[in-house]
Amino acid sequence: TQVGCPVGCPFCATGQSGFGRNLTAGEIVEQVLHFARTVKFTPQPPSAPSSPRIRGEGVGEREPDSLITNVVLMGMGEPLLNYEATWQAIETLHDARGFGLGARRITLSTVGVVPGIQRLSREKLQVGLAVSLHAPTDRLRNKLVPLNRRYPLRRLMAACRDYGQTTGRRITFEYALMEGINDSLEQARRLGRLLQDSLLKVGCPCHVNLIPLNPTVESPYQPSSRKMALAFQRELERQKIPTTMRVGRGVDIQAGCGQLRGKR
Ligand code: SF4
Repeated sequence: TQVGCPVGCPFCATGQSGFGRNLTAGEIVEQVLHFARTVKFTPQPPSAPSSPRIRGEGVGEREPDSLITNVVLMGMGEPLLNYEATWQAIETLHDARGFGLGARRITLSTVGVVPGIQRLSREKLQVGLAVSLHAPTDRLRNKLVPLNRRYPLRRLMAACRDYGQTTGRRITFEYALMEGINDSLEQARRLGRLLQDSLLKVGCPCHVNLIPLNPTVESPYQPSSRKMALAFQRELERQKIPTTMRVGRGVDIQAGCGQLRGKR
């Protein structure tokens, strides 16, 4: 949704490359169009199961001639710092004359722009919300996600709770596991307590998506070992927090989550 990103997270190549400009709604939709065309004209191996097609889920939705089934708005850029264009793009993706994607097939990922989450909860179309958390305490999050200084965890969790209660939708928390930084068992315990107390105990479902960090050339941050990542996951599950471990894709071409940056 943006060229570069103004948030400046120190482990993210986009954040380290600075901010260029906001994308227009057309430029955001164009990325989906590009991949819709690429997939459509890429021959599928005869033995591969056919890809699922978009299925209509209500008003304004249809089953178009497209193999794009889900769209996640995430880096590069912070979508809620380019709200108008992002929302216009979402409406186009949802519209029957656009891609006809159901609201449940569109997810917006944010590092926690609280006024943006509040605004999102008032929209008629209730898309999925993913929050890049990466730390269970303000002290650590202030370093990893500089925007936390403006919107600390207490305010972020309150906005997430309101979003969950207004929309009835389960919130995903993304947590990039970094070796020796945020992957200890004590930090897993703190994360579990934070989510239990802020959301689960008040009836807001949530889930944690664990992502061993995708390394970047300039960053000193390294991914957690598989052993630490699995121990972290087990501790969260012991605290009844649903989790998944994300499989990294595109890392070899520096196109994984947190690796994207512009080249001249
Ligand atoms: S992690 Fe997301 S919010 Fe942080 S700098 Fe990278 S793109 Fe921006």
